[in-house]
Formats: sequence, structure tokens, C-alpha cells
Amino acid sequence: MITVRNLSKHFGELVVLKDVSVDIEKGEIISVIGPSGTGKSTFLRCLNLLETPTGGQIFIDGVPLLDKTTNVPKLRQKMGMVFQSFNLFSHLTVLENLTLGPLKLQGKSKEEANTKAKALLKLVGLAEKAHSFPDELSGGQKQRVAIARCMAMEPEILLFDEPTSALDPTMVSEVLAVIRRLAREGMTMIIVTHEMEFARNISSRVFYMDEGLIYEEGTPKQIFENPQKEKTKAFINRIRSLRYHITNENFDLYAMQAEMESFCEKHGLTKRVAGFVALIGEEVLGLQKSYTDINLSLSYSEKDGTVEILCESAGAPENPFDEGVLDDDIGIKLIKGRCKSVDYEYKNGKNVLLLKVKGE
Ligand code: ADP
Ligand code: MG
Repeated sequence: MITVRNLSKHFGELVVLKDVSVDIEKGEIISVIGPSGTGKSTFLRCLNLLETPTGGQIFIDGVPLLDKTTNVPKLRQKMGMVFQSFNLFSHLTVLENLTLGPLKLQGKSKEEANTKAKALLKLVGLAEKAHSFPDELSGGQKQRVAIARCMAMEPEILLFDEPTSALDPTMVSEVLAVIRRLAREGMTMIIVTHEMEFARNISSRVFYMDEGLIYEEGTPKQIFENPQKEKTKAFINRIRSLRYHITNENFDLYAMQAEMESFCEKHGLTKRVAGFVALIGEEVLGLQKSYTDINLSLSYSEKDGTVEILCESAGAPENPFDEGVLDDDIGIKLIKGRCKSVDYEYKNGKNVLLLKVKGE
């Protein structure tokens, strides 16, 4: 249904997509994952020509999208796109948002457009909200309306660009449920998402994007359980991290601790673990001899639930956990009591401490 050959996209000097080639069959559900800035949105935007590719070819049902003779508006109607930020018209009711395209672009009768729109609102669980305005809805409801609006144009392919990342965590699941429902009905979909569990459950294939390419692709089982390439492995195993580069004594320790705690909360870790993390963060800095060049990172692996703090600091080699170095130090004791393991190595001129935080 979609064939992409050697697609590239440059923004001036910046090469975002180097060489992307894929085939997507009708009914497939593709999740696109990868670090931010790797061109996932650009890839989707090239597919429906919101961006003009620099090179390569895209075929939709065999029709070359980039050919001058191609009827682009018609082809584009085959594709609906759902954005992170909903993009509803705030001066129109929910129903009017849904009927606008069919009335203006497809020449449908008002009655036909209304009937279809109401059926779609029912599908996304919002039949009651037909006459509400977008501002009267929650984020999750707005996104469901946006999905219904897309469907009103009867697309053959739906493109989702991080449809849940602007939502309050409590509203993510209602939107994912709607997408899952469309998947069951056989819709062809390409979904850029950070929701790994969702991607794993729903997709027929997963694309991991990095280095301007589809760096690795496979079934969810292959990508999530047995990734082959280095960057995919790192991404799958340690998806989430917070990083600090500390260069002087005046950095805001309390702000860092608060951020660490909310990071833990965001990833569903317990208050206890969040407390450990904030305390270890403080104590590991307390062990440092100088604050001129410290890299501190907190990472959480969604796959196995491990929480790690990594601290790298320049200077002469010294393991603070060695016997005889800081034996009676309260910081050492506090850290050891809250970690499963503490490892030290001297690497590239840096003291590197890897602290694995105790769970639950
Ligand atoms: P992702 O969705 O994977 O986070 P994007 O496709 O949004 O990545 O962006 C990839 C890179 O391209 C980023 O470095 C971004 O700053 C850059 N970029 C995206 N759109 C534009 C644009 N219109 N002009 C210039 N640079 C852009
Ligand atoms: Mg993006």
C-alpha cells in the first residue's frame, strides 16, 4: 500500500532523513519508536507531504506521490493525520469539526455528514459531546474527537504523531483504547509513540529510527525482546533518563531532587523509590571532591524496572567505596543502604560510579 524508496529530507545543512526505504501492507499497524530528534515526525510529514522530501520516492497504491502529474490532494485524502496537539477548530462544535471536511472537501450532504459524524462520535465514546465546544472537553476527549474527525474523511491510512504525549497521564489510556479499536477494525496505521507497552501490544511491525534511517525493524517480539543493533538495544533497555552536567557549586540541588522525584513518579515508581533516588543523588554529589565537571544521570529501564544513577567526574582515580577511603562517611552508608549494588570504575580519565537503586 505504501512503498518508500530512498527517501531523504534535509533542512539546509541538517540531514534528518538519510535513506529510508520501506514497504507497508494494507492492514499493517506500524509503530515508529526512537529517541527524539531522529526524524520520526519528519518521516510522517513526508508521507503526507506536509514536508517536501529532498529525494527518493513514495508510492501510495502504486501511484508515485512525488510525480508532478499526480493528483496530490486526492491522494492525501487517503491519509489522515492525528497530531500531538489535537488541532481542533475552537470556534466550531465537536460535530461541526467532524463535518467540515466532508462538507467542504468531499461535497457530502449535510444530512450524510451529520449521520456519519454521529456514528464516529459514538465509536470514540463521545456521542454526548456532539454540541460541545473543544474547550469544554478534556485533553483525552479532544484527542478522541481529533481521531473521529480524521476518520470522517474516510482515510485508508491513519498517521499518528505521538497522539498521547500532550495528555495528562490519566487520559492516555482512553486514547490508546480508541486507537486499539481502530486497529481491530483493520485500519492501516503508522503510529509514532513513546508508549512502549502499547507499541508492543498493538503493532504488526516496529520501526526503530535513528541516524536518519529505519535503523532496525522487526516484529514487536524481535525489537522489544531481542534487538540486534547497538542503539536499539540501548533504547529498549534504558529508555528513560534524566541528565545533569554540573559545572559549579551553585547548581540547584533541590531543583534536581524535585525533578528526579517527579521523573520517578512519571514512570510509575513508588514514592519510596523516588525518595531513595533523591537522597542518593544528593549523597553521591556529597562524595565528590570538586563540582567543576560532573555528569550525573538517572535512568529507568521500562523493560526490567531497574533504576540506576550514574555519576562521572573528572579527577584522579579514587573509589569512595573502597575500604579505608570514607569508611565512616554517613553518605556512603546512606547510599549503600538504598542500593542493590554500587560499582566503580576509572574510565577515560573519569571516576565512574554506577549505583543500582533498590526497587519497591
Ligand atoms: P522526532 O519527531 O523524531 O523527534 P523530528 O522529525 O521532529 O524528530 O525532527 C528531526 C530534526 O529535524 C530535529 O533536529 C528538528 O529540529 C529538525 N527539524 C524538524 N522540522 C524542521 C524544520 N521545519 N526546519 C528545520 N529543522 C527541522
Ligand atoms: Mg516528533
